[in-house]
Amino acid sequence: MALPPLLSPTQRAEALEKAGRSRKRRTEIKAQVKSGDISIDGVLDLALKDEAIRKMRVRELLESVSGVGKVRALALMERLKISPTRRIAGLGRHQIKELRSEFMNPSHAIPLGRLFVLSGPGGVGKSTIAARLRALDVFWVSVSATTRFPRSNERDGIDYFFISEEEFLRRVKDGQFLEWADFAGNKYGTPRAAVEEALVAGRNVLLEIEIDGARQVKSHLPQALLIFLEPPTWEELVSRLEARGTDDPLRRAERLQLAQEELAAASYFDLVIINDRVERVVEQLIGLTS
Ligand code: 5GP
Repeated sequence: MALPPLLSPTQRAEALEKAGRSRKRRTEIKAQVKSGDISIDGVLDLALKDEAIRKMRVRELLESVSGVGKVRALALMERLKISPTRRIAGLGRHQIKELRSEFMNPSHAIPLGRLFVLSGPGGVGKSTIAARLRALDVFWVSVSATTRFPRSNERDGIDYFFISEEEFLRRVKDGQFLEWADFAGNKYGTPRAAVEEALVAGRNVLLEIEIDGARQVKSHLPQALLIFLEPPTWEELVSRLEARGTDDPLRRAERLQLAQEELAAASYFDLVIINDRVERVVEQLIGLTS
């Protein structure tokens, strides 16, 4: 194999400077795409004569379009048979034509499902609502992985995937979770692949998770709708947590303390719903999908 030519210090400095200028140019263009100052069509035109733009990854370009984001960009590339690492320079004529028409006529865009995140203090009744919605099949409800031991009424693969701490950490390292958090001494995480598949299949997806996880989802996927479920009163939440025969007294005390902190997070959410009646909450959530 031929070795690359050796560069003199001056040539190396010039090459580094050129790479820096190209990176800056790509960042500027992505910001313009984000603010709507330039269209995908416009960027593809510029790429004909601008080497820095030709080197931009297609994925980064698509992710900068407002409302597209990571999941939709990947789904679109998969549909147009563009490999995830392809740069603009590597696009075929046919792919360029398809990309242009995709963004000229957004009605061509794939009907991605929406992501809904139901959160709120432990004991507020999120899992009852999620179970009801799953049974009605209006949402595809994600099944989380957890390191917590199963309660007597829970089934592996249906209520949770019950896994060891070691396995959980391995999946974190592999990037298999869309979000994950520590909660009351255990780890909980949303399996990424299943959620992405459901969204690409056009399903409305519901995650029933605690608050830290909801925040992580919003930062990766700003288009997700974050819903906070609130108890009608603090006393009601206390009595629900105390009525839970599945936790020991120490655990209940911990969860009450946590619930107090969690209630303070409501203002971060897009929507607050009071869980006074399960049927009413279910109806309200279904109403959000139309
Ligand atoms: P529990 O142990 O009572 O089933 O759940 C404890 C808390 O963990 C609840 O607030 C529940 O919503 C949350 N939770 C369940 N699955 C996940 C998950 O995948 N990610 C995060 N961040 N929280 C979860």
